[in-house]
Amino acid sequence: MMLDVDLIDYVIIHELCHTIYFDHQKEFKNLLNRITKNSAGLNKKLKEMSFVLKIEY
Ligand SMILES: [Zn+2]
Repeated sequence: MMLDVDLIDYVIIHELCHTIYFDHQKEFKNLLNRITKNSAGLNKKLKEMSFVLKIEY
């Protein structure tokens, strides 16, 4: 796997945020931005990896 620790953290935090919000609306992204330092950058990176992971983000 080529996932770095930041990205793994981001995936875990993302999933935890889904226990609060079940979609990707503004409130979800606000929460994610509060928790992660570089949520926009990590989201971009995750999108690039998502074809490998077979997940939809
Ligand atoms: Zn999600």
